[in-house]
Amino acid sequence: MDKQTYMIEQLKTLTGIPSPTGMTGAVTDHLLAELTRLGFQPERTPKGTVICCLGGEGHPVLLSAHVDTLGAMVRAIKGNGHLRYTHLGGYDDNNIENENILVHTADGKTYSGTVYSSKASAHVWGSQSATLRSDEFLEVILDEDVHTKAAVEALGIAVGDFISLDPRTVVTGSGYIKSRHLDDKASSAVLLTLAREVAEGRVTLGRKVYIVFTVYEEVGHGASALGKLTDVEDMIAVDMGCVGDDLTCTEQQVSICAKDSGGPYDASFVKELVARCKEKNVDYAVDIYPSYGSDAGAALRSGMEIRFACCGQGVFASHGYERTHVKGMMGTLALVTNVAEVVK
Ligand SMILES: [Zn+2]
Repeated sequence: MDKQTYMIEQLKTLTGIPSPTGMTGAVTDHLLAELTRLGFQPERTPKGTVICCLGGEGHPVLLSAHVDTLGAMVRAIKGNGHLRYTHLGGYDDNNIENENILVHTADGKTYSGTVYSSKASAHVWGSQSATLRSDEFLEVILDEDVHTKAAVEALGIAVGDFISLDPRTVVTGSGYIKSRHLDDKASSAVLLTLAREVAEGRVTLGRKVYIVFTVYEEVGHGASALGKLTDVEDMIAVDMGCVGDDLTCTEQQVSICAKDSGGPYDASFVKELVARCKEKNVDYAVDIYPSYGSDAGAALRSGMEIRFACCGQGVFASHGYERTHVKGMMGTLALVTNVAEVVK
């Protein structure tokens, strides 16, 4: 299997494993199994972060991606058997209206349902286009014959149960990838592909390389648990690049972030990544992300003394039904591969 095929296969596998922030056991099980199969010795911290050294010596670099995603949690069971949800991560409620979901109970059962407007039947309530979507106006209706709170509770569903959103992953013949949770499962697939390239001898490491898959990124403290990696000099948060408005990046490019909501990235590192893209003919854009924070910020706030950067494939409609392109992912792979191979 060539690296692009492997990368897309891994992306589909990752998006197919529900992992809203706080429920990342199954997706990190997959990472541990795959990295072990490739011959590495990954470990999972008590928090759930997966850390894997790919080998190499000197000038340690940490490449991170996050495998937790947006989702929801059961906030309340209503008298009519419908569910009120609360957000996991930040998104507009209109982005989940009419989405199919799964409720994951504490004892391991799974029930399907849908996020509907509480006035969903157009022939009954008429147009609701002017109504602001919120967790008060939208609700989860289960695909079960339950019409009372007691009946829902009898299924084993309780307040605090996780709710995952159907990713609806589609890869088109033209190379576009449409799916929820490309943030940041696309980058996670890129890092797994780098690991496979190293394991199978097609990439030789010119420095010590850690790949790290964080959890809880969507609520802000993903990489704040990495203080144990005291030898790291450089960190790249490999994460979705922003696309839209006056930003220049497209889904087919690698986005290099110069500044996000937390401030500027290390200027020398941004310059270095640009130089690497030029050298390797990687199509890239440097942009400012107006409303964004990355795991690099979390790592810095936890006290890591490192150079830090953020880059990744352009992702349109972020925190909604997202869209990227195989070219953007392959470009990201080429860039992080070059970082792993050559110290600049
Ligand atoms: Zn992200």
